Amino acid sequence: MSTEDSPPEDTPPAKPKYRRVLLKISGESFVQAGQRGIAMDAVLHIARQARQAAEHGVQVAIVIGGGNILRGAQFKAGNSSIHEVTAHYMGMLATVLNGLALQDALESLGSDVRLMTAIRMDVVAEPYIRRRASRHLDKGRIVVLAAGTGSPFVTTDTAAAQRALELEADVLLKATRVDGVYSDDPETNPEAVLYDTVSYDDFRRQNLRAMDAEAITKCAENNLPILVFNFRKDGNIEQAVLGHRVGTLVGSG
Ligand code: UDP
Repeated sequence: MSTEDSPPEDTPPAKPKYRRVLLKISGESFVQAGQRGIAMDAVLHIARQARQAAEHGVQVAIVIGGGNILRGAQFKAGNSSIHEVTAHYMGMLATVLNGLALQDALESLGSDVRLMTAIRMDVVAEPYIRRRASRHLDKGRIVVLAAGTGSPFVTTDTAAAQRALELEADVLLKATRVDGVYSDDPETNPEAVLYDTVSYDDFRRQNLRAMDAEAITKCAENNLPILVFNFRKDGNIEQAVLGHRVGTLVGSG
């Protein structure tokens, strides 16, 4: 089921629907499928799309994940000498590696960009201070937010919901590797149905996987819409930022 309603190519660009967006990008978008680490061509691909989107005048803040390098939960099994909390901090630091790569990729394309981290590391990046981040955005800078929330046991989805609310973004744009929210995992179940829209309640009731429950709850409590869409499709980030319907809209229903 396609939900795209983007304008034909010969129409002049429409006024963007949103003033400010929070884009959540998973670490896996920085590598080819199934790989780990950072592939700069993949980072540049994302950076190009984010830059195009920002060129329409929409203020763009990006929360970056770290799953291409490390997720804290992988050390949970109890057979590791790394404490789980340490592992989560390692995961947060992984997001900083990605943030540094994304900052330089955006800069190499000519974007004005600031990396801010929730864990202070002043020689590497600015500390995340809400008012300062907001000011950067007002000035048209792309703000890359790394180190998640700065606290263990949550993921960068939750960080994205948190920052979207703090920065008063109009929408949380969650870029994933599938086309949106499905009734089941589309990578293992070919019968899975892609939803056009889904309510926060149905999302939680059906235990859908596109986003963490904690992040959904934060958005639901504050009526912040979430658009889940496929970052692998060229132009999708731009379409989403402009408010064109791609993927699945999660809202109050
Ligand atoms: N993390 C954390 N607190 C946060 C954000 C992230 O402890 O506020 C850790 C957590 O272990 C997580 C890892 O950092 O697994 C990397 O983030 P995430 O898994 O969300 O990355 P993504 O899947 O989006 O690439």
